[in-house]
Amino acid sequence: MTDDILISARNLSVRFPLSGGLLSEKTYVHAVEDVSIDIEKGKFFGLVGESGSGKTTLGRALLLANPITHGEVSYSDGDVDYDLRSLTRQQRRDYYSRAQLIFQDPYAALSPRMTVRDIIAEPLEVMKLTSSRRETDERVREIAAKCRLNLEHLRRFPHAFSGGQRQRISIARALVSRPRFVVADESVAALDVSIQADILNLLKSIQRDLGLTFLFISHDLSVVAHTCDHVALMYFGRLVETAPTRELFAAPKHPYTKALLSAIPSLDPDDRGQVQKLEGEIPSQTNPPPGCKFQTRCPFAIDVCRRDEPALEMVEDRHRVACHRWKELEGTVPSALEVRAES
Ligand code: ADP
Ligand code: MG
Repeated sequence: MTDDILISARNLSVRFPLSGGLLSEKTYVHAVEDVSIDIEKGKFFGLVGESGSGKTTLGRALLLANPITHGEVSYSDGDVDYDLRSLTRQQRRDYYSRAQLIFQDPYAALSPRMTVRDIIAEPLEVMKLTSSRRETDERVREIAAKCRLNLEHLRRFPHAFSGGQRQRISIARALVSRPRFVVADESVAALDVSIQADILNLLKSIQRDLGLTFLFISHDLSVVAHTCDHVALMYFGRLVETAPTRELFAAPKHPYTKALLSAIPSLDPDDRGQVQKLEGEIPSQTNPPPGCKFQTRCPFAIDVCRRDEPALEMVEDRHRVACHRWKELEGTVPSALEVRAES
C-alpha cells in the first residue's frame, strides 16, 4: 500500500442473511458485492448512489460497524497499520477512536435527556480517552469551538436547537475522539437547503484544518460536485465508476453516471430537455440475474452484458469503470457538461 492511502478495500462484500426460509436454502441480501476502493489520506471522498445501493453498508463496514462477509480492508494512518479483518481487541478499540461516523439524522442521533456537553463527551468517556473531568471538558470545549457551537449552549439539551445546530453537535461528538477517518452518511440530506451549504462548508474547513480523511456519502451527485476530491458511484452494491471529481463530471464513462449527471438541474432552461430518464426495474437483491446489474435499466445492454459481470477497468490512472461497452459508447451519450456547452 502506498503512503498516501488511508483505507484500502479489496473485493469487499457484505451479505445479510434473511430470516425465514429453511436453513438449507438460506437467502442473503447482497448489500455490497466485490467492492475495491482506495481512499487517499486527507481527501474528501464521495460515495454516491441511489437509495438501497449499499452506501451505508459499505461505510459502516469500513468502520467495522457491519460484519464483512468477504474481502480485505487495510488501514494505515502513519501511526498504525491495521488489517481490519484481524484486529486484537485492543486494536479494535483503538481503531474505533480513529474512525468515526457522523449520523444521518441529527434528530434521532442525539439523546434528549443529555446535555450537549455530555453528548459530546460521551465517546471520550466510553473509550476512556481522557483521565480527568477537566481534560474531558477541555476537549469538549475545543471541538465545540471548532464546530462553531456557542459554549453557552453546552449546558442545554438538544431539543432547544435547530437542525443545523444539532448537526454541529453530532459532528462535534464524532470528532471529539480526534479520529483520522470520518464517515459522513447523508450528513446534510435532512437539512434545509439553506443550511446544507453551511454544514458542508463546516465539514470541509474542519477536514482541511485537521487533515482528516472523509468518506462523504450522498444520494445526490450535485452535492458531491463542489465538495469532494474523488467520487465513487455505486449501483446495486457494486462500484460502477470511480474518478477524480473533475474528471468524472467532464468525462463520465458509465451509462449510469451519464444518466445521473444529466439529471442534475441545469441553470440554463434550454438544457432541461436533455435529461436521460432511467427506466426499467432494479433487479431482485436476493436473486440477481447474471451479468451487469445495470442491464435492466441500460439502453445499451447487449448479450455480453446479460452474461458476464463487468470488472472495473482502468480508463486512466485513477479513473475506473465497470461497463463492457464504455469505449464503444464514448461520445454517444453527451455528458452533462457537453450538453451545456452545446446549448
Ligand atoms: P444505501 O445507504 O445506499 O441506501 P444500504 O446500505 O442502506 O443502502 O442498503 C443496501 C441494501 O442492503 C438494501 O437492500 C437494504 O435493504 C439492505 N440492508 C441494509 N442493512 C441491512 C440489514 N441489517 N439486514 C438486511 N438487509 C439490509
Ligand atoms: Mg444510506
